[in-house]
Amino acid sequence: MAEKWIDGAGLAAKLREEVAAGVKNIARQGRAVHLTAVLVGSTPAGELYAQRQREACEAAGISYELRTLPGDVDRQTVEATLAALNHDTSITGIMLHLPLPRHLDATALQYQINPIKDVEGVNPANIGYVVYGHTLIAPCTALAVIELIKSTGVMLRGAEAVVVGASEIAGKPIALLLSEQMATITLCHIATRDLAAHTQRAEILVVAVGKPGLITAEHVKDGAIVIDVGINRITLADGSKKTVGDVDAEGVYPKVSRITPVPGGVGPMTVAMLLKNTLRSAELLTSR
Ligand code: NAD
Repeated sequence: MAEKWIDGAGLAAKLREEVAAGVKNIARQGRAVHLTAVLVGSTPAGELYAQRQREACEAAGISYELRTLPGDVDRQTVEATLAALNHDTSITGIMLHLPLPRHLDATALQYQINPIKDVEGVNPANIGYVVYGHTLIAPCTALAVIELIKSTGVMLRGAEAVVVGASEIAGKPIALLLSEQMATITLCHIATRDLAAHTQRAEILVVAVGKPGLITAEHVKDGAIVIDVGINRITLADGSKKTVGDVDAEGVYPKVSRITPVPGGVGPMTVAMLLKNTLRSAELLTSR
């Protein structure tokens, strides 16, 4: 039997090489690609994530700066920081690490990032551009999902695609990009009645919920392509920890034609897409 696992890590490594070549190209024009990430409040998880991001950027030739603000910083100071980054011509990309402390409104602050420098594609202007078919920068996870699906060679035009999970960060942008590719979309969420009745029709099933084991063999059509966006840390019977997705991968494997592993599927591809978006921001700025 042919390998059914979609090699997200391998595809991501290829994409990172392409980004590195693009960054060199910009350097030949005397320009640098520079990402500044803003982290509010210092937690070990936030610092570790930022460190991984720095390593990924620097491996692609992108310079990276982490601006850390105190956890009790006021909204005006974060806005002033973002405004200064927007105006600094040496900075080509900006991102705001989430989660933010409770007193800050993440969405309102993301709105403040210049859409061209918005490497995560979270400014509503960027979502609007996707809706109108003039994509500037699209959200990284959604781009990752599309690339993983395309890597299977399946024809998206006219395909029956079901997305489970409708968050602003994952499910909705994924549904939007699939619809831009002319797939027929069903978007399921917590209020969906009879989830299986929808997922069983899916030639392409994307799951982004955050509930391990939500999708089992009975939810999946024979021959479906399954993209598992979920990332969940579970504790096994022996007390050890494991990272799993939302799909019972072992149970559905015999039925699917292709499936992404967790870890090693959407996760590494999302990081690679952040780098690709960072390059795109720099290219857009260079062309203006
Ligand atoms: P969220 O909590 O913001 O949204 C969850 C969505 O799932 C909601 O739309 C909700 O209505 C829906 N939902 C909840 N229970 C459901 C059910 N029983 N049936 C159908 N729909 C249901 O979560 P999120 O931020 O979108 O993240 C979802 C998962 O994806 C998490 O595990 C997260 O860690 C992961 N994630 C991974 C990446 C990546 O790069 N791989 C990126 C973003 C999110």
